[in-house]
Amino acid sequence: MSKSDSQKIIIVGAGVAGLTSALCLRKSGHDVTVLEQAPALQDIGAGIQLSPNALHVLNAIDVCHKLESKADTPTEVSIRDFKSGTPLLTQTMGGAFTRRYGAGYWHCHRADLIEALFNAAKEAGIQILFNEKITAHEETPETVFVKIQSSKDISADLLIGADGISSTIRSTLQPTSMANFTGQIAWRGLVPTERLKTHPPEGVSVWVGPGKHFVAYRLRQGSLMNFIAVEERTAWTEENWMLEGDINTLTTAFSAWDSPIQDILEACTETYLWGLFNRPAPKTWHSCRTVLIGDACHPILPFMAQGAAMAIEDAYVLATSLENKTCIEAGLNLFQKKRQKRVKNLYDISRRNASLYHASGIKAFARNALFAGARMFPQALSYQLDKVYGLNVTK
Ligand SMILES: Cc1cc2nc3c(=O)[nH]c(=O)nc-3n(C[C@H](O)[C@H](O)[C@H](O)COP(=O)(O)OP(=O)(O)OC[C@H]3O[C@@H](n4cnc5c(N)ncnc54)[C@H](O)[C@@H]3O)c2cc1C
Repeated sequence: MSKSDSQKIIIVGAGVAGLTSALCLRKSGHDVTVLEQAPALQDIGAGIQLSPNALHVLNAIDVCHKLESKADTPTEVSIRDFKSGTPLLTQTMGGAFTRRYGAGYWHCHRADLIEALFNAAKEAGIQILFNEKITAHEETPETVFVKIQSSKDISADLLIGADGISSTIRSTLQPTSMANFTGQIAWRGLVPTERLKTHPPEGVSVWVGPGKHFVAYRLRQGSLMNFIAVEERTAWTEENWMLEGDINTLTTAFSAWDSPIQDILEACTETYLWGLFNRPAPKTWHSCRTVLIGDACHPILPFMAQGAAMAIEDAYVLATSLENKTCIEAGLNLFQKKRQKRVKNLYDISRRNASLYHASGIKAFARNALFAGARMFPQALSYQLDKVYGLNVTK
């Protein structure tokens, strides 16, 4: 779309998807307003891994340089035996990733990513309004009306639902879309590294064992250790991010695991629990003037660390899909067409990783043999990683 085709666009949610899409659409010349229910930007969440496919987009919208000084760049990722910590498979990252994919691999705090996106959005003249909770929306062929809890309705040419896992926009667009519990829960936590008695392995470590796995990596120039501990459970009700967890239960669940894990958990004073749900993307992601992106459309299990990356890719592809289109719906159609297969692939890879990580008995033996094969033929592993990290949607 050229500047003369500029549309009035409302984005619901100032999360990763909402702010990235605001920047991409502003770059295409649209008039963008972001409505966020929270009263202000909040220092919430924990670590987010930004892979090359996400960094290409952040680079294209001039956000990388704002984030770089706060990001950590791991040299490698190792999948380790849960008890001994012996690496079963190691992938070098750092310069090797930059050479292969044209961008590196970063870790950052979610709050730092949001702040960098927010500052870039303000500089680009995007209006971001806080304390604005969207309760409903309605479409006519000419416009879309948005109901806000605190004030009167507003209208736009296009409404983007970037309102996360409990999306209000999705519940109107896709009222039958259901989520079902995966049988897994995740604890997340941050520990100051100065409180650790020992020096945990460098890079990203993923300890894998029967029915559980534990991921740890450094954040904020190594001053924080971020962890995610996943365990299989029979029941769960909340699909929520911020439920406080019991550290004793967590410590007991991982008491027989490798010593760096014990050390991290011993130093941990606060943890949050989160139930993992399967929520496949709906068949249709949009109507004539409303579209879903990011977690509102396709929350992905965190076993390939691609939830934020898929939201970031969505944002760029949505903006380019709307370019040179005479009608918005045609642009939304193209967007869905371009993204559906990619998102489904990542959804499937993430689910497969869960069973690979949590294997026991003969299945664990087979997994370790598979990893041994990959150690001997690293090209096989690179081939798999290329499918995830090798896409540059900005090209
Ligand atoms: C609190 C929190 C912590 C997270 N921590 C991690 C983490 O540690 N590691 C990781 O990999 N991923 C984390 N994620 C998930 C990750 O950020 C997402 O997979 C990815 O960023 C997708 O982002 P999104 O913008 O689609 O959704 P979200 O990041 O969930 O953003 C949605 C936004 O919409 C707003 N919103 C919701 N409903 C309304 C409404 N009705 N009206 C107005 N605004 C609304 C929300 O307040 C939120 O700001 C976290 C998400 C959240 C919300």
